[in-house]
Amino acid sequence: MSAQLIDGNALSQQMRVDFSARTQSLISQGTTPGLAVILVGDNAASQVYVRNKVKACEQVGIRSVLEKYPENLSEADLLARVDKLNHDPSIHGILVQLPLPAHIDADKVTEAISATKDVDGFHVANAGALMTGLPCFWPCTPHGCMKMLESIGYDLKGKHAVVIGRSNIVGKPMALMLLQKNATVTICHSATADLKHHCLQADVIVAAVGKLNVLTADMVKPGAVVIDVGMNRDAAGKLCGDVDFEGIRQVASYITPVPGGVGPMTITMLLSNTLDSAQQSLSVNT
Ligand code: NAP
Repeated sequence: MSAQLIDGNALSQQMRVDFSARTQSLISQGTTPGLAVILVGDNAASQVYVRNKVKACEQVGIRSVLEKYPENLSEADLLARVDKLNHDPSIHGILVQLPLPAHIDADKVTEAISATKDVDGFHVANAGALMTGLPCFWPCTPHGCMKMLESIGYDLKGKHAVVIGRSNIVGKPMALMLLQKNATVTICHSATADLKHHCLQADVIVAAVGKLNVLTADMVKPGAVVIDVGMNRDAAGKLCGDVDFEGIRQVASYITPVPGGVGPMTITMLLSNTLDSAQQSLSVNT
């Protein structure tokens, strides 16, 4: 068997056509969707992520405001800037690129962003709403994975999903989203005793670890769907995911590539959340 690719670039482009139309519709109603992106310091990877987010906004017509600050920006100054943006009616989404320098408490900054502009979906109010099934901003990466499953018409009801990784921004919300779609969910992590045993039972595996080859072909049930969230560099410096792509594509029914899989979908769902936020502000103000 050779697995079919779930192409995150193609799906993103398809979705972004619709987003351009939504943006134009909002503009015609007097609201230009606006996203503020804050970057502190000169982390090379963060600079690339931020650039891609700004470019994606431009592509669909969302106004983006990129604020770059030096590494030594104080926590108080960052919080003051967030507070200003919270009160700026032209800004519908606020994103503070992580990681932040060590002297800044990232949790404090995340909680300072108004939950109504938290388009990353990291605020505890949004995390709690996701857990209880209330409407909220879903974190972009797991939401993008759900869209990828939706794009192949995959019905999760009664399926067994294994999520490898339990971070607050990927693994845990991923598990909750799968649960909401009636999958039976197992969450694995660094203390899981027998990862292979769990993975071999899975119809869907989402790997969100940040380690090369955490999932290999012998750990995958024939016909399973494999979503690779990981972003790593191999010995040659090439971007790759958490899973042994070449081996697993001989066993799985569908697989996401890295690059060109979950990465672009994460940005696409950021655009989606920003448009939802602008739409909500329009409803509040009319
Ligand atoms: P994280 O906060 O470091 O979490 C990693 C998780 O993996 C932890 O829960 C950890 O378990 C678990 N883990 C570590 N080693 C393991 C092992 N050997 N077996 C099973 N589980 C193990 O990372 P994250 O923020 O969730 O990100 C995960 C990966 O996704 C990274 O490569 C990141 O770059 C990538 N990512 C990609 C996108 C995208 O847009 N494509 C977006 C976000 C993140 P413990 O909890 O026990 O420590």
